[in-house]
Amino acid sequence: MKRTSSSRQADYKPVNVYLGLGSNLGDRQHNLNMALELLAQRVKVVKVSSTYDTEPVGNPDQPRFLNLVARIQTRLAPLELLTLTQGIELMLGRIRDKPNAPRSLDIDILFYGDQVIKNRKLTIPHPRIEERAFVLVPLAEIAPKLIHPVSGKSAEKLLAALKQGVQGVFKLSNGG
Ligand code: ADP
Ligand code: MG
Repeated sequence: MKRTSSSRQADYKPVNVYLGLGSNLGDRQHNLNMALELLAQRVKVVKVSSTYDTEPVGNPDQPRFLNLVARIQTRLAPLELLTLTQGIELMLGRIRDKPNAPRSLDIDILFYGDQVIKNRKLTIPHPRIEERAFVLVPLAEIAPKLIHPVSGKSAEKLLAALKQGVQGVFKLSNGG
């Protein structure tokens, strides 16, 4: 079911959501682990990809990232989920800076069920999924058949179609 509103999900089944997590400041692995723990206090963390060590994109003059993708289930509405993820970013010391700046923790909402949302605070699916190897590699690892609700292509198809390939993305440790 496609819905464009961000109304509360409380009366509905939990929604499958994919989050992209990244860190390139401080103890990167610790930041990702803490973020997953904090998320698990509020949502069901169903599956976590391996952790990948990745080349920074956009502003190459900064430390490498660790990235992973997590599948969660939640009844939180999209904006409530954004409030949660931004709160976790702040708890882990993120200072809001310009886009592409180094960060102790970044959480992007990649997909929220098959909803297509565009408002001042949220664009879902996340608008840069299709150009980012550091998102598509972990996403295709845990959900190769997941269909992007706008392009209609699966995660594994999007990964195969990536123009710049997957160089700069190295698997570090297995997920759970
Ligand atoms: P970026 O991750 O693009 O470098 P930020 O993490 O600082 O930038 O996010 C900037 C803003 O992006 C947030 O304030 C949030 O409102 C907005 N945003 C829009 N769509 C999304 C999404 N799908 N997931 C997370 N944030 C989003
Ligand atoms: Mg972000």
